[in-house]
Order: sequence, then structure tokens, then C-alpha cells
Amino acid sequence: GAPGDAAAPADAAGSAARAPDGALIQVRGLRKHYGDVEVLRGVDLDIGKSEVVCIIGPSGSGKSTLLRCLAFLEEYDAGDVLIEGELLGYATRNGKRVKASHAQINHARRNVGMVFQQFNLWPHMTAAGNVMEALQRVRGRSRDEARRTALAMLDRVGLAARADAYPAKLSGGQQQRVAIARALAMEPHIMLFDEPTSALDPELVGEVLQVMKQLARDGMTMAVVTHEMGFAAQVADKVVFIDEGRIAVQGSPHDVFHDADHPRLRQFLQNYF
Ligand code: ADP
Ligand code: MG
Repeated sequence: GAPGDAAAPADAAGSAARAPDGALIQVRGLRKHYGDVEVLRGVDLDIGKSEVVCIIGPSGSGKSTLLRCLAFLEEYDAGDVLIEGELLGYATRNGKRVKASHAQINHARRNVGMVFQQFNLWPHMTAAGNVMEALQRVRGRSRDEARRTALAMLDRVGLAARADAYPAKLSGGQQQRVAIARALAMEPHIMLFDEPTSALDPELVGEVLQVMKQLARDGMTMAVVTHEMGFAAQVADKVVFIDEGRIAVQGSPHDVFHDADHPRLRQFLQNYF
């Protein structure tokens, strides 16, 4: 983008502590490249409080990269990501953008939880142990306190009875629900899901989607990269179609699935309907 693109919103973010009208995530002109390849080519996206946004699109279109930028697991090259009005990952000093300190980054993303396709549970820890780990290490909770929270979170995903089971004794669907419980234990305001059911056997997909539906009903703000079009149609407030690093179409599920006549979207959806 133009050199001035990033400066104004970044300065505004520095002075205004809160986002206007409740948008928990604001993405403006987001760009990201790997080597010569521009993977995100100017993404603009708002996610309001309690909104569920489902992100769809072909493989390699930049969906994971976008989500990873929202958690600052990736640095972005230009544009702004504001989380609850706070610029994520960067600060402006003397009108120039500089990378934020670790402390600033952790502060800005403390309310963002993420769930991946691969559950990444610690194999040597029980379900409860996996949920307790960050509570104790990152949040400084006592063992007893962390255990209480872990049991409450496992109950929320329907796994109270399996709290002391090791991951190897749990199905993929149960392991993913533990991963969701682990993220929820940190009390995020926003949950990001990157193809949370794509690694699961088909008969285990439903139990994970069920937990996510309940989370949506409870008012959680969510961004979900998914190929589960039924879930998106039922749960999403907004569906976003990403193609070649840009948002090509966005709208209500009905608009995107039925009305939009974007040729690349129609071609993509043919694989599902
Ligand atoms: P999606 O999740 O939509 O399948 P990704 O965001 O994972 O797409 O990837 C978008 C593009 O960026 C792809 O072409 C991919 O090969 C490339 N890419 C992703 N991560 C990296 C990386 N760490 N290094 C180099 N290229 C990457
Ligand atoms: Mg991906």
C-alpha cells in the first residue's frame, strides 16, 4: 500500500484506548508476504462483540495466515490489527512503526484464544493437567485454583468425567474439546478456530461443532476457518470468502451461500453443495 497507509490508524490506536461501537477486532489493509509471495493482499474485516464470523476459501488462499496474524503468531507487513482498540504487535515511535515489546504483545493478545486443527495436547499430562498448565504457568494460579477452573472448563465441553484421562486414551473429538477447554480457561474475549474439525474422523466432527455452537450461543466472539458449510450456515453472523489473499465476498450466510454470484465463490461452493 501507500507509505501513509499504516501511520494514521496506528496513531489513532495509540491514543484511543477502546474501539468504537464494540468491534472487538478491526483489520485494516492487512498485508503479509512470505518471500516473494504476497499471501494477504489488503484484508479489511470487522468482528463485533458476540459475532461469529466463518472464514471459507480454497486451500492456500491465506485463511490460516489471517488467523495467525490476529493472534500475532505471525508478524504482518502492513496495515493494522486492532484487538479491542489496541494495535496488535506494533507501536509507533516518532511516526515510525516499530515492533512492540514482548510484554506489549502479550498484553494486546491476552484476550485472544486459539484452537488449531492439530490439538497439540501434552501427552504426558492428563486432560485436566493440560488445561491447568497455562493457568499455573502464565496466570500464576495456585494448583488448587487451576484444578477447579480446569474441571469447570472440562465440564463445559462435556468432559468432566474424563478429567484424569491422558490424551492417548481420548478420541480425537475429545482431545479437541480438551484443547477448547484449555483455551477457554484463559478467559478469552475472542476465540479463533483454524479448521478445528478437519483432522477428525467424520463421526467425531459433530461433538466438536456442538461445543462451538454452545459457545456461540453463550455470546463468545468467534472467528472460525472451516469447511463445515452446514455449521457456517447455521451459526455464522457473517461468512467471509477469501480468495488469493483478499476478501472476495462477505455477507450473511444466505447472501454468500445463495445470492452472491462471484464466479470463484460459486466454483468453490460447488465442492460442498
Ligand atoms: P490456507 O489456510 O487458506 O490454506 P495459508 O494461510 O496456510 O492458506 O497459506 C497461504 C499461502 O502462504 C500458501 O501459498 C502457503 O504455501 C504460504 N505459506 C503459509 N505459511 C508459510 C510459511 N511459513 N512460509 C512460506 N509460505 C507460507
Ligand atoms: Mg489453513
